[in-house]
Amino acid sequence: MARAPVEFDVTLNDTRQEKRIIRVTAQADYAEDGRMRHLVLLGVDETMRRAAEVRLFDASRLATLGEMASSIAHEINQPLAVIRLAAETLNEEFQLAEPGVVPAELREFTGRKLERIANQTERASTIIRDLRIFARKPDDQPTPFSVPDALRGAADLVHEQLRLASVAIELRLDEACGQVLGHANRLQQVVINLVLNARDAMLEKPGDAPPTIRVHAYPKPDGSGVVVDVEDNGPGIPPKVLPRLFEPFFTTKPGGKGTGLGLSISYEIVRQMGGTISAENLEGKGARFRFTLPIAPVVATVDNSAIAAE
Ligand code: ADP
Repeated sequence: MARAPVEFDVTLNDTRQEKRIIRVTAQADYAEDGRMRHLVLLGVDETMRRAAEVRLFDASRLATLGEMASSIAHEINQPLAVIRLAAETLNEEFQLAEPGVVPAELREFTGRKLERIANQTERASTIIRDLRIFARKPDDQPTPFSVPDALRGAADLVHEQLRLASVAIELRLDEACGQVLGHANRLQQVVINLVLNARDAMLEKPGDAPPTIRVHAYPKPDGSGVVVDVEDNGPGIPPKVLPRLFEPFFTTKPGGKGTGLGLSISYEIVRQMGGTISAENLEGKGARFRFTLPIAPVVATVDNSAIAAE
């Protein structure tokens, strides 16, 4: 006599103390008199399949979010431009008004406030612009772009998250870096991953010094590439974690927080741009991620004007 099998999940730790999800199917075999004779248990390790499912879900959620970000950015830009224009016009009116109509003190006070409104809307527009670059669909052709510009955009995008976590960010961007070939938004994704990982590490194990992330971009001494260092003064990377950092699905964060994909995706993005990425612990305290990208090849333009003139 057979009854429908029962299925359930169990979580086990493997020899490396990694959590594995096992799907167990239990099938009982009964004797004529109804007593159970055997119970057959079949366990299948479903860890990778579940993780792939999460990745797929994340990818589609991110794609939707990207599309939404583009259209929201467009919608917000319009009112922002109107606010800025109104603040500037009002300020002009105030400044040009007869002294008898607007007292000097009020003129000075409103002048400062309106300027502040204009500056803040300008800042919001910059963030929106960065967001649009970040959300752009990645199927377009790789184009040369400036690394310092992309890093400034990435820093703008994480500014608020870092402020809320009381983490400081310092940018040291050498404008002589030259251009690299790829997609600025993908490079921003790499930097955002590194910065947010640094934030997480510093929040998880707070040290004595104020948490600080340093982003330093500079040309390679031989001029063949651009180097970007993202350093933190957090707890550093435990030696047993270091060799597995860039492995897909490797995470030390609790379930629901870490996917273990940030660094493997970053690795792939840098590799596709012809670069390399590595991680090490700093002498004092903290971690340093370094990636190097080749300079974009200079495209020769042929000047035909002399031939045409003949
Ligand atoms: P996730 O952030 O989802 O865990 P990642 O691939 O981005 O996935 O990171 C993998 C692991 O690398 C993290 O769980 C963490 O243990 C470690 N890590 C990454 N950046 C740092 C850092 N700056 N300091 C210490 N550990 C880090």
